[in-house]
Amino acid sequence: MGKSKVNLYQMSGSLNQIQRINECLKLLDLEGIRSTFEVMAKTALKNDSLPLDFLEDLLEKEITWKEANRIERWIQQARFPWKKTLEDFDFSFQPTIDKKQIYEFASCRFIDRAENIIFLGPPGVGKTHLAIALGLKAIQKGKEVKFVRLDQLIDMVDKANDAILLRRLFGTLMLPKLLIIDEMDFYETNLATGTFLFKLLQQRYEKGSVIFTSNKSFDQWGKIFGSHARTLAIIDRIAHHGEIVNIEGESYRIKDKIIQVQQMSSL
Ligand code: ADP
Ligand code: MG
Repeated sequence: MGKSKVNLYQMSGSLNQIQRINECLKLLDLEGIRSTFEVMAKTALKNDSLPLDFLEDLLEKEITWKEANRIERWIQQARFPWKKTLEDFDFSFQPTIDKKQIYEFASCRFIDRAENIIFLGPPGVGKTHLAIALGLKAIQKGKEVKFVRLDQLIDMVDKANDAILLRRLFGTLMLPKLLIIDEMDFYETNLATGTFLFKLLQQRYEKGSVIFTSNKSFDQWGKIFGSHARTLAIIDRIAHHGEIVNIEGESYRIKDKIIQVQQMSSL
């Protein structure tokens, strides 16, 4: 971006070899190699490296660079509210969570099978954290992800008030291999929005995974989809190819307060 590329034929004869290589690499968009070839060439010379080994090292550098860029780009596109990883998650604080099950999810096989995950539990127990962490794993494994809170999603649908915009929004939400819908809680939607959400989840069924997080149990998802019958139909599909993770525990947000109270009571 913003790089001024020179055409090969415009290269001045006065450029030295390093500058010429630099220009070629810019032209070919090989930024990984460009960032390092001078240092690597000096090291290769010092170590008497074979030309093919040197070439292989350069190419690996480019692949690593491109992969890191892709991951960064996809993370931006996913629109996570914050970055949280599985490695940051303290499983000992939340013993009702089966660590093995979460690491099985992290393999992303559930995405290959177009299955869903539903994290249920009270506020602060780490539902959103786990959903984001699994989203990051999915991106690392080359699967596109989109994160959205239900209230934001409802807002987006309400605002896309013509057929073309709605179709475009629908396409954006159908595209990612993994869609994360956070805070799937009680919202009363209008009929058009409820229908949109109903169709979205109906069409993703068996085609793409969804991770839901919710403070409410299924039977309280109520009027999100416009009618009780639709809600039942959607829950049926979600649960058919889905794993429900019920988290029962204390809020991590008040962890320090719990520890303080425990310390005081042991005095
Ligand atoms: P929920 O979505 O269930 O309301 P969050 O995932 O938003 O909860 O968690 C609230 C905060 O506590 C976040 O900053 C999250 O990273 C942190 N958190 C929750 N549980 C844990 C945990 N077991 N280990 C580390 N951090 C946690
Ligand atoms: Mg949450």
